Amino acid sequence: MSLQCDECGIGSLSPAVWEGVFRHGDASIKVTGLECHRCSHCGADPVFTDQIRRNQARIADAKRAHDGLLTGEQVRGVRESLKLSQQLAAQIFGGGANAFSKYERGDVIQSIAMDRLLKVAVRVPGAFEQLCSLAGVPPTIQKPADATYETADGIGVRWEQPLSKATVVSIEDYREQRRA
Ligand SMILES: [Zn+2]
Repeated sequence: MSLQCDECGIGSLSPAVWEGVFRHGDASIKVTGLECHRCSHCGADPVFTDQIRRNQARIADAKRAHDGLLTGEQVRGVRESLKLSQQLAAQIFGGGANAFSKYERGDVIQSIAMDRLLKVAVRVPGAFEQLCSLAGVPPTIQKPADATYETADGIGVRWEQPLSKATVVSIEDYREQRRA
C-alpha cells in the first residue's frame, strides 16, 4: 500500500531516513537514522506521529550517549535484570510515579544522580538490597552466594536466579524478618 503525497497529490510517499544536528548544552550532536517519508514526485518529506516518537527517543539516546548516561533500552535492561516493574523501580529509585516509563521511552532523560544510582545498584554487591531496605520494599532479587559477576554489556552486573517464593516475600514478612 502506498501513501499518496498530500503536498503535490501526484507522488507516493515511502519511508526514508535523514540526519540532523541538535544542540545539547554547548555541544552539537549529529543524529543519523531519523525517520521520515519522502515523496517520489515533489520531494516533500513529512514525518508521521509514530516516526516523531521514535526520532525523539533516538535523539534522547544520542544526548545520553554524549553525556555517558544509560540509553532508554539500557535503563529498561537494568530494571528488568532487577525484576522490577516500572512502578516498583520508581518506588525504590525515586523520580516520580511515571519516571521509568518516561526514561525508557526517551520522553525524559534521567538525571546524573539517577543514572549513577542505577549503575551502582547493578554493579555493587549489596547496594540494591540496601536501596530496597531504605524504600521499605522486599528485595525482588538477591545475589546467590556463588553468583559470578559479569559486565559483558558494559552496563553492569547481571546474575540469573529463578524467582522462588522464598525470595518474593510480602512487605510484612520482610519487616518481620528485619526486626528479628
Ligand atoms: Zn509530493
